[in-house]
This record gives sequence, C-alpha cells and structure tokens, in this order.
Amino acid sequence: MANKKLLLLSTGGTIASVVSDSGLVPKESGEKLIKLLGKLPFDIDVKDILQLDSSNIQPEEWEFIAEKIFLYRNDYDGIVVSHGTDTMAYTASMLSFMLQGINIPVVLTGSQVPINVVLSDAPDNLRLAFSAAAKCLPGIYLAFDQKIMLGCRSVKVRTTNFNAFESVNMPPVARITSDGMVFSHNFEPKKKKCVLNTKIDSQVSLVKLFPGFDPDLLFAMADSGCHGIVIEAYGMGGMNYIRRNMVAAIGKLIRRGIPVITTSQCLYERSDLTKYEVGRLALLEGAISAHDMTSESAIAKLMWALGQGMDVHEVARFFNTDVVGEVTLDEDKEKEEE
Ligand code: ASP
Repeated sequence: MANKKLLLLSTGGTIASVVSDSGLVPKESGEKLIKLLGKLPFDIDVKDILQLDSSNIQPEEWEFIAEKIFLYRNDYDGIVVSHGTDTMAYTASMLSFMLQGINIPVVLTGSQVPINVVLSDAPDNLRLAFSAAAKCLPGIYLAFDQKIMLGCRSVKVRTTNFNAFESVNMPPVARITSDGMVFSHNFEPKKKKCVLNTKIDSQVSLVKLFPGFDPDLLFAMADSGCHGIVIEAYGMGGMNYIRRNMVAAIGKLIRRGIPVITTSQCLYERSDLTKYEVGRLALLEGAISAHDMTSESAIAKLMWALGQGMDVHEVARFFNTDVVGEVTLDEDKEKEEE
C-alpha cells in the first residue's frame, strides 16, 4: 500500500524555538523539524506558514491557518500543524468552527522543549501527530504526550510538564499504548460538506467571576464595544445577586442585545444553571449556558456565532446545538445511558 501523503504546516512555538539574547524565539523551519525526526512511513511535504510564539497568534492568524488548511485539504490524506502550546487549544477550537465538515484529519501539535534539545518531547509529539493524521477520522485534533484529543475539547493544563494537555469532559479520542494507537470511543464526525467560514467577531470578552467583582465593569466593556461576554461563574454556574447584582447586570446586557454565556470555573464536568437559585435567576434573565464546554471553545463559538450575524436568540439556540463535538447536551447524555 502506498504511503499516506501528509503535509506539515509549521507556525512556530517552542517546538521550533532556539535560544537568543531575548529568550526563546521560533526560528527553526518545518524542514528542520522533519529532519530531526528520522525516517517515517509517510510522504511528508512541509510549508512554513508562520514563525510565531503562539502568544502572538490571534484572529488574523486563525483565519490565515484555516485558509491554508482549506487550500491543501484535497491534496493530502492529513495535515499536521506545528504550533506553540500556549494558545494551541484556542486555535484548535476556532479551526473546528471555521472548518466545519473538514474532509481529512488535521492535527495540531507542539512541544514543551525545543526540538534541538536532546531530551525534547518534540520528536514523540510530531510522530504522534503524523500517525494521527494518517489514521484518525476527518476532524480537528490536538495530539500531545501520547494522547489524541478532539481539538475543541482540549485545554492546556500544565506550564512545563510534558503532560500539558487534557481532553476535558470527553475521553481522548485515542491513547498510545504498547498495542499502538488505541481508540477509546467512536468519535463520529458530523456529516457536513466542508466549508471555509472564517467570519468572526473578536470583540468579545471572557470574565472570571470572583467575590467582589463589580458588575458595572461589564457595562464598561459593552460601552467600549464588546459584543458578547463569556462569564466563568462558580461551580454549576451560579453568581451573586446580593449587593453586587450580577444577575440584574446580565439581564440588562441581554436586553441590550449582548449575549452573555456562562461556563464554570471548574475545569471538569458541566455547568447547570437550573440546579441552584443563583443559577436559575441568571437563566431567567437570559444567561446562556455553555454546558460542559471549555472556556476556549465557548469564546471561539461566541466569536464565530457573532461573526455570522446571529442575534441573542440565535446565539442561545446555537449554544444549545452540538456543532463539532464541543458540547454534551442532555439528549446526548440520555443516548449514552440507554
Ligand atoms: N510560548 C510558547 C508558545 O506558545 C510555548 C510553547 O510552545 O510551548 O509559542
């Protein structure tokens, strides 16, 4: 059987970094990354599309990366995107919305240590990503430290450990064991035609609630041009309404046409605004639950929804829809339990 034809799009990050007087900077080419890997059973082409620390990757770069993937999607069996780890989960989440129905596996990876360091995690992560790009079903994935995760469920949870990413509220799609790549559940990509839709509105904000937060600051954001807000509320999604009335502020914002999405500060498990009074009141005011989505996916989904021109009601319906595997809705849970 012929080797799978894969493409590496290199964008920078620690994986491609070298030491400089000003600290680590991404300077190595994609060719260099491949050269240090040795022989792999794939035919790999390489394109250097960016050379950035991922802290500098923003909506303009998401659009650019999505366009490149779309452009090359029919020439390859799979695409690997090497990327800095710091914002990789945001990029993976946004690409999931911008490239719905993607017809090949697209796998993001990076490393905690530059590839030119002898004990770097980069070679293993790259091998993993290429193997995933050759074997997985179509979709956007993040591969790191022996785990292949759905991109829109991945979160960076450690700053230095090799085990830097976790798949939140969904088991990893596959793990590497002595038996090879073991798929843990059947992630079924939604059957859609692949379209490139990079229209987003990045005038949004992500607020972590803390005791003492002044809800008037939300109006300051709206007055400065913020079109939607994700609030990381407490536990199941509760928020204060005595003295500093978050609930009333949310109601006012929603009546001004600004969608307010609530997620939980807890990384794991779902938020459920129906459980406590402090959540239900917000729900009655129109707060939109992000259920068990990661904050990265919630902010990407909100930007994308606003970019499509959705109003508050349409955004609410959109957040009650599983678009690319980013959320578990009640119906999904019921199906699993049957
Ligand atoms: N600052 C780096 C980046 O995100 C960190 C890394 O790649 O691990 O580009």
